[in-house]
Amino acid sequence: LMQLSIPLNFIGFIYREIRQGLTDIEQMFALLEVEEEVKDRPGAVALKVTDGAIRFENVRFNYDPAREILKGISFEVPPGKSVAIVGPSGAGKSTISRLLFRFYDLTSGRITIDGQDISEVTQASVRAAIGIVPQDTVLFNDTIAYNVRYGRMDATDADVRRAAELAQVAGFIDVLPEGFDTMVGERGLKLSGGEKQRVAIARTILKAPPILILDEATSALDTHTEQEIQSALDLVSQERTTLTIAHRLSTIINADEIIVLKAGTIVERGTHKSLLDADGLYAEMWRMQREATEAEETLRRAREAD
Ligand code: ADP
Ligand code: MG
Repeated sequence: LMQLSIPLNFIGFIYREIRQGLTDIEQMFALLEVEEEVKDRPGAVALKVTDGAIRFENVRFNYDPAREILKGISFEVPPGKSVAIVGPSGAGKSTISRLLFRFYDLTSGRITIDGQDISEVTQASVRAAIGIVPQDTVLFNDTIAYNVRYGRMDATDADVRRAAELAQVAGFIDVLPEGFDTMVGERGLKLSGGEKQRVAIARTILKAPPILILDEATSALDTHTEQEIQSALDLVSQERTTLTIAHRLSTIINADEIIVLKAGTIVERGTHKSLLDADGLYAEMWRMQREATEAEETLRRAREAD
């Protein structure tokens, strides 16, 4: 039995190593695969960001010709302003952020940044101009410092610390045994969803991109963590052109414009107040979220009373 168990353990070890390697490779491939979908035009020049104005002009897009996902979307995000996109699941919200990052080219229409069609400039320059705080951050198997510094590789230790402070994650890092040198990721310390998201925010603060895409967390973060993340996000989006994919409507009531997307079409748009007054889909979503939040609180109070 001993003879058998040793090789099996060893195989288990190898298997875990390979699997981890595969996870990293898969992530790379996930990026590479989509990158292969778009090619730079011969002689494409770099995007020149002046103000950070975004424009979608009658954008149509499908992943599969049999089903159109975006059916003629037009909107603008003026320099430094914030636009939120809300709507039912499957409406095409994340697709809009992928198109802005130029993971795919359009069927028709245009997306411009400061008047330049993003399909006519280099992909690398488009991506350099945009910071994304995704819903689900995957950390590299490396130190926390590396994971933050990835936003700008030449950043000093002081810059890394400052970014972590602004993202409200420095306090958490400081109490770890090895501080910023603590290994994280699959093989290191496992961070919670909220901690990982704040590391991603720190990375984005360091990158300091003129344009931001935020895909808000839906995951069940506790209220306190959510508020901390929200204030970190508010901070990073100040003075930056920001496109927010919002799940919790309470976080976007101050957006300059809210776009309500349904089945690939803009069905309503306006400010929080004007949309409530219009009493349409947005107002209905708002009421439903209010009721859900109240039900949660009633449940929580009942549990606490037990
Ligand atoms: P939302 O973010 O609003 O929930 P998405 O933009 O992620 O919606 O997706 C819009 C639609 O496109 C959905 O029906 C989804 O199933 C489909 N979709 C998303 N990604 C792909 C893909 N890579 N290939 C094919 N269909 C996709
Ligand atoms: Mg989505």
